[in-house]
Amino acid sequence: MVKKLIFTLALTTLLVRTWAQEYTETYIEKRRNEKYGTIIGIDLGTTYSSVGVFKNGRVEIIANDQGSRITPSYVAFSGDTGERLIGDAAKSQLTINPENTIFDAKRLIGREFSDDTVQDDIKQWPFKVVDKRNKPRVLVKVGDAYEQFSPEEISAMVLGKMKEIAEAYLGESVYRAVVTVPAYFNDVQRQATKDAGTIAGLNVVRIINEPTAAAIAYGLDKKEGERNVLVFSLGGGSCDVSMLNIDNGVFEVLATNGDTHLGGEDFDQRVMEYFINIYKEKTGKDIRKDRRAVQKLRREVERAKRVLSSQHQVHLEVDSIFYGSDFSEHLTRAKFEELNMDLFHSTMKPIQKVLEDSELKKDDVHEIVLVGGSTRIPKVQQLIKEFFNGKEPSRGINPDEAVAFGAAIQAGVISGKEDIGKLVLLDVNPMTLVVETVGGVMTKLISRNTVIPTRKSETFTTTAVNQRIVTVRVFEGERPMTKDNHMVGKFDLTDIPRAAKGVPQIKVSFEIDACGILHVTAEDKGAGNITITNNHNRLTAKDIERMISDAEKFADKDKKIKEQVEARDELESYAYSLKNQIGDKEKLRGKLSAYEKRTFKSAADDAISWLEDHKEASVENLQQQKKDLEGIVQPIVSKLYEGAGGEEEEGHGSDDKDEL
Ligand code: AMP
Repeated sequence: MVKKLIFTLALTTLLVRTWAQEYTETYIEKRRNEKYGTIIGIDLGTTYSSVGVFKNGRVEIIANDQGSRITPSYVAFSGDTGERLIGDAAKSQLTINPENTIFDAKRLIGREFSDDTVQDDIKQWPFKVVDKRNKPRVLVKVGDAYEQFSPEEISAMVLGKMKEIAEAYLGESVYRAVVTVPAYFNDVQRQATKDAGTIAGLNVVRIINEPTAAAIAYGLDKKEGERNVLVFSLGGGSCDVSMLNIDNGVFEVLATNGDTHLGGEDFDQRVMEYFINIYKEKTGKDIRKDRRAVQKLRREVERAKRVLSSQHQVHLEVDSIFYGSDFSEHLTRAKFEELNMDLFHSTMKPIQKVLEDSELKKDDVHEIVLVGGSTRIPKVQQLIKEFFNGKEPSRGINPDEAVAFGAAIQAGVISGKEDIGKLVLLDVNPMTLVVETVGGVMTKLISRNTVIPTRKSETFTTTAVNQRIVTVRVFEGERPMTKDNHMVGKFDLTDIPRAAKGVPQIKVSFEIDACGILHVTAEDKGAGNITITNNHNRLTAKDIERMISDAEKFADKDKKIKEQVEARDELESYAYSLKNQIGDKEKLRGKLSAYEKRTFKSAADDAISWLEDHKEASVENLQQQKKDLEGIVQPIVSKLYEGAGGEEEEGHGSDDKDEL
């Protein structure tokens, strides 16, 4: 959690802000915006991501190259060529390359390898996750070699794809983004998400909670009077519930709760288990033994689940799923609900919790907003309605796009380019921050649900004569004992001037910024410098630097592969178009000699077989081949077009002109 260890400047320099300084800063910021262009809003989802931009007074959720406004958060590597695929292209080849297709990186980001959730997830994934100093790393085959990637790098690839989608639409480079995270993401996960942005070449100017973004998307800030809004978000991987209080355009998150491991994928898993058992009973075969079969079934189950949101029954069919035998089953909505009922009920628990935390009664809730693809499930909608004694949730906004929509509005506000009106966004930190000093002394620093940004200071001193170091550990959580809470950071204050015990007065300030990230600064009230050493187990600046250069290398490699594919395609299309021309008997009638036709045809055939024999040909070679081919056929082609309409040549063929 202790991310950035910055020495505070002398307080006076922080406080004295002259008009001239502010003017200069505004000017610099304005120039920076011009220079760095549009800020985009990205919903970096567990299963799908989307990107939006505020332009010409409205939000545009941008379609990708497949025409889809949501892009799978998937990255795949080819074990043969080392080619990297991101998004739809990666997801669609999952069944043929399951070991090298990575998804769910959001479940790993900012977590330790030994986390129970990481260990549980690993069992479900077809790709390998290895332990690197208690940090998870995915292990994939890239070309001939095995490579390890951090979750930050995989997320960076997805963010990079979203950046590209926005750039293609805007026709300009994009350098800055607002990125959303689940409300329950802790400091480490938020910082890791920011790092992923950096690796992708994006400055993440703000991280906002997904439910907050959704509420902004619904424009609830524009409504008259004070309102309590419950945002219920159920996506592919997580369930987040927030209680917002919105008054005169000011958003305050009263409470947040959720489960980072409850969503559509878990519902899919239940159905998977059900069908795998049925298949085993019927055939005696265990699909689990074949990863590809499992992935094929997973894809079909997910499709069926979506259908069941609008129909009562669905047919599932997978051809030759396992050793040539087919899979063919029915699933009713009632059975789907029965398989998942306990999970559906579990999604109600965070609602109860936020009501308690925000000290509100059900009747105090003015609006209920549903976000995330899984809120399309009728049973989930029904349970929420029943929970709120028949109150209907708000509708009218696409639940898959609401979060990116809100992020795009926030991006517009930050860029100051668009006149969006007054929008003040106040968030809260979701968990209490506690500091523990070496003697085991605990101090509550920033209470849960404190509005951020916020700053709190504590004065530390020594417990021994001439003590030069004080170790401070920061935990988050609500339990009284630190061992039951989650340690988010540990740092040492060193170079403390020698003094009697209890004399040094070291003021340590903890600031949670607008992204929910903790910054720790130290100030020695006496003379001398205090050094802070960050012992937190996150990516170091050096790691990030290396990952940026790796990402650039990958981008270069991707570019080269793309160029090669294009050059290959150009030569191939050209050769086939020549073959088509030579096949067009009408057009050629009487225009070419037999020799010319033979030359023309064999040049095209040679090029096609050359392509077959040179699968790895370089762009230069491919271009040279095309040039050579052109050199042979151009004189003949130009003859074809000489005297177009050429009736005079019709039937006047010389001896060596044969009929085609
Ligand atoms: P999100 O993370 O918000 O994009 O949500 C993705 C999850 O929503 C995935 O698990 C999808 O299977 C699920 N989902 C999308 N559409 C539907 C639908 N019509 N019915 C049920 N679940 C859906």
